[in-house]
Amino acid sequence: MANILVVGGAGYIGSHTVRYLVQHTDHKVVVCDDLSKGHRQAVEVVSADIPFEQGDLGDGDNIERILRQYRIDLVMHFAASIEVGSSVADPACYYENNFIKVQRLLAAMRNCGVEYFVFSSTAAVFGDPKAEKIDELHPQLPINPYGRSKLMVEWMLKDYELAYGIKSVILRYFNACGADESGVIGQSYQPPTHLISIVLEAALGVREKVTIYGGDWKTPDGSCVRDFIHVNDLAEAHILGLEKMLSENRSADYNLGSGSGYSVREVIAKAKELSGVDFPVEVGPARPGDPARLIAESDKARRELGWEPKRRLHEIVATAWNWEQHKTF
Ligand code: UDP
Repeated sequence: MANILVVGGAGYIGSHTVRYLVQHTDHKVVVCDDLSKGHRQAVEVVSADIPFEQGDLGDGDNIERILRQYRIDLVMHFAASIEVGSSVADPACYYENNFIKVQRLLAAMRNCGVEYFVFSSTAAVFGDPKAEKIDELHPQLPINPYGRSKLMVEWMLKDYELAYGIKSVILRYFNACGADESGVIGQSYQPPTHLISIVLEAALGVREKVTIYGGDWKTPDGSCVRDFIHVNDLAEAHILGLEKMLSENRSADYNLGSGSGYSVREVIAKAKELSGVDFPVEVGPARPGDPARLIAESDKARRELGWEPKRRLHEIVATAWNWEQHKTF
């Protein structure tokens, strides 16, 4: 049993991982979140017993206080800025939030003797795909400040392990989506930033139409293909990854996706089928920086962690649709 601090635990992937930890493990969980994007309710609905600390991950003194007060053994870090477009418009914000503040968080961990770290990374550290499927050995050539800010932390973690003995699990998410089957937590960004939430807003009638970014990509139906992975499958991978790190006392990195691609048009068709709403769809210009296909090779996680993503596109869209219709925050 470990004492785990989940930084960013009131956010989307953080809150689903907190729920998974509480429901499926004996670990003790403490959440720290500045609530800039996260929701206090996302923790409260999981359990009223989870200690919640409102604070910034870059506030070293406060983090050290939390690490000591709760005798933390391991830190999971979900508190990041995650939009490619805004990282291009305001890179300073991304280098500050995603790199400099993580450096401070790691400094606080070193000062308190906390040796284990779980890091949310991204497929964006790879840049343009050079292969059909992207495995952990794919060249890391990010093409935007978001990917670069995350890759800088990956490098920092490798150096910190050699010099200071901090062990880490680096988890690179492909397209995280879906919501908890209970319907009590889900993705809640206002305005929505990702495809499935945008599409479901159109199904709800909150948005007039969906614009497909580019219709003549070299893909079977001309729209982009992505690897959509359910947030609860991601949550499970975090727990498998941290258990392995604790038991073997060593670092690892894993790409987390389903290994199959679905096109933007297939996502839209599934949303229309499940909602029963035939909302308008138009094709617009391609979005700068979008690769045509982005699919994970997740064999390493399957082999080493015994991880098997369970939910396919149908469950992803169904749980997201349930959340969108009934969400309370
Ligand atoms: N997309 C789209 N219309 C939208 C939002 C997204 O066609 O309104 C496409 C986007 O070009 C990409 C895919 O949906 O091919 C997934 O985009 P999202 O922003 O959800 O995630 P990303 O792949 O950028 O991480």
